[in-house]
Amino acid sequence: MVSGMHERSHPDAEVIVGIDLGTTNSLVAIYDKQGLRVLSEQGQSPLLPSVVRYAPDGRVESVGDEARARSVEFPERTISSIKRLMGRSRKDCESDLGFLSYEIVEGEHATARVRLGSDDQIVSPQEVSAEILRALRARAEGALGISIEKAVVTVPAYFDDAQRQATRDAGRLAGLDVVRIVNEPTAAALAYGIGLVQRKAETLAVFDLGGGTFDISILKVTPDDSDDDDATDFFQVLATAGDTHLGGDDVDRMLVAWMLEQAGIETDAADAPSLPAQTRQVLRTLAEQTKIRLSEEERVAVSLDVEFGRDRRRIDAEITRAAFDEMISAWVQRALDCCKRALRDAKLGVDQIDRVVMVGGSTRIPLVRERVAAFFETEPYTALDPDQVVALGAAVQASILAGGDAREMLLLDVLPLSLGIETVGGAVAKLIMRNSTVPARATDMFSTSIDGQTSIKLHVLQGEREMASDCRSLGEFHLRGIPPMPAGIPQLEVEFLVDANGVLTVSAHERRSGKRLRAQVIPQHGLTREEVARMERESIEHARDDMQQHRIVDLVTNAKLDLKWIGEGLERVGAELPEDVRAKLETLCTQLRNMITQAEQDWRTVDANALHALKEDLDRASMPLHELRIAASLRDEPPRKS
Ligand code: AMP
Repeated sequence: MVSGMHERSHPDAEVIVGIDLGTTNSLVAIYDKQGLRVLSEQGQSPLLPSVVRYAPDGRVESVGDEARARSVEFPERTISSIKRLMGRSRKDCESDLGFLSYEIVEGEHATARVRLGSDDQIVSPQEVSAEILRALRARAEGALGISIEKAVVTVPAYFDDAQRQATRDAGRLAGLDVVRIVNEPTAAALAYGIGLVQRKAETLAVFDLGGGTFDISILKVTPDDSDDDDATDFFQVLATAGDTHLGGDDVDRMLVAWMLEQAGIETDAADAPSLPAQTRQVLRTLAEQTKIRLSEEERVAVSLDVEFGRDRRRIDAEITRAAFDEMISAWVQRALDCCKRALRDAKLGVDQIDRVVMVGGSTRIPLVRERVAAFFETEPYTALDPDQVVALGAAVQASILAGGDAREMLLLDVLPLSLGIETVGGAVAKLIMRNSTVPARATDMFSTSIDGQTSIKLHVLQGEREMASDCRSLGEFHLRGIPPMPAGIPQLEVEFLVDANGVLTVSAHERRSGKRLRAQVIPQHGLTREEVARMERESIEHARDDMQQHRIVDLVTNAKLDLKWIGEGLERVGAELPEDVRAKLETLCTQLRNMITQAEQDWRTVDANALHALKEDLDRASMPLHELRIAASLRDEPPRKS
C-alpha cells in the first residue's frame, strides 16, 4: 500500500486501467489490491514505443519495440509521433511534414491522414493510435489475466476538444471505453500526491515536457487527515497552460539541421522532402541519440555518411554541451513563457509554489532543469520516474472511478482553452473562460433573423483570441426543428456543457414552445460518428480475417506434419496396404499438398473449412497405415530384457 492512503477494501471495485498514450512511448498501469504499478511483459520494459508498422498490404505488422528498431528499414510504413496528428488538420501539421518519414495527406473535413503506400491505404491518426491502445490492452490482459474493457487515458492538458474527441475515438476503435480523459500534468500530480509522506497542503507546479508537447499545471493539493469515513483529499487545478507543438522532437529537429549544416547541406533541407525518407529517419534517430547522450556527457562526436539526392556527404563533427545549450535556449524559454502565463492565470507568484514536479523525458535535459530551478527559485522535484508518473496517475484516477482504493481523492480539473461562438463580423463571444473548473456549463440566448426560419447554425470555437479566424474551430452545430415564427420571436436557449473530460456537448430548446432542438455537430478535424462506426466495423472484420489467417496457418502446420508422417509410413509399410486404400491415400495427399501450396502463396484464396475437411479425410484414410506402422514397430522392437 502506498503511504498516505486510507487502507480499505472494496471488493466491488471494477477493473479500469490507466493509460499514458504518449507521443514517443505509451504505458499502461493499474492500482489494485497489489498496489500501484505499471504493467509490462515478463522482463520487458513497461515503455511501449508509440510506433506502428504497416505491411505493404496495409495490415498492421508490428507495434512497439520491433517497429521502432526497424523504422529505418521501412520509413514510409513506420508511423511514429502520431499523437501530433490527432484531431488536427493537414494544414496544422505542416511544420511536421519534412520531419516525419511518412506521408500526411488531407482527408475528409481537411483532417490529417497518413498515406501508407497507395491511395487506398490511408489511415486516420485515430486508427494508428488505436493499434497502440490495442497493444497496451493486450499487455494488461496478459499481466492481469482478465479482460479489460475500460480505461482512463491521459492527454496533454492543452489538448483542445477535437484532440480529446480523437483520443476517445481511438479508444473506441481499440475496444476500450475511455471512461475519463485526464490531463497529463494532473495525472502526474495524483501520482505525486499518492506517494506523499508528509501530508500537508501544497501548491504544486507540474512541468511536463515530453516528446511532442509541453504542459504546465498549477495545482492545490489539500490532504484530509480527519478520521471520517468520507475523508477526501482534494486535487484542484488552478490553471494550466502549454503548447501542443513543443517537445523533445523539436530538439531532434534542431540537431538534424545542425548535422546537415556540418555536411554542407542547406539547413532548410531538414524539412525538405528532397531527403530520402530513409536518410531522414537515420538522421532523426542519430539526433535523438546525440541529444540523450548530451544529458550525461559534456561533448558528443557525430559521424555519418548522408545520402543527399545523388550525392553522398560525410558528417564528422562534435557538439559540446555548451553549444547544445545555446541551440535549445529559446526552446526552453518558450516553455518558461507558458509557466509565466499559468502563474498569472492562477494569480500566484513564483514564491507561492511549494514544489515543482518534473514530468516527461525531456526534463532530463540538464539545461531544462537549471532554467526551471532558476525560474521557480527552487530545485525541481525529480524523484518520480518521469516516464511512468503519468500512467501511474491515470491508474489512480481509474481506481477513483472504479470505486477502488483511491476513491477518497477528488480531482477538480480545468478547461484549458476558452470556448466561444462566432458572432456577426467574425468576432468571438466567449461562453466559458479558460481555467474554469470542469464540468462547466454556460447558456446563451439566440433567435432567428428570417421569418419562418427553422434552423440556425452556431460556429463553436476554442481559443483565447478575439477573432474567429485566429481561434480553433471545433465545428458547426446545426440547431434544427425550430417552430416557424416571425424573425426574432423564437427564444433559443443553448446550453454548452463541458464534461469532466473537457469534452463539449451542445443542447438547445426553444423557450416559447418548450421544444427541444436537435444539435447536430459537424466536427472540424475529428471523425464523424459514421466514420467511427465504419472503422469499428472494419476493425472487427480485420479481427475476423486475422483469426481466419491464424486458423489456416495452424492447419497448414499440422497438415505438413501429417504428410511427413504418411510419406514415411508409405515408404516403410505402404506395400502391405490394399491397392485401393493406398491409391486413395495418395490422391488425398496430393490434394492436401496442392492446397498447402496455395495457402502459402495467398492464405485468402483458401477456405479454412475445406482445408480442415480434407485433413480429416486424410486422417481417416490413413488409419490402416497407422495400424500397420504400429504393428511393424512392435515387430521390429528388440525383445525386452526381463
Ligand atoms: P515522453 O513523451 O515523456 O515519453 O518524452 C519523450 C521525449 O523525451 C523524447 O523526445 C525523448 O527523446 C526525450 N528524452 C528521453 N530521455 C532523454 C534524456 N535522457 N535526455 C534528453 N531527452 C530525453
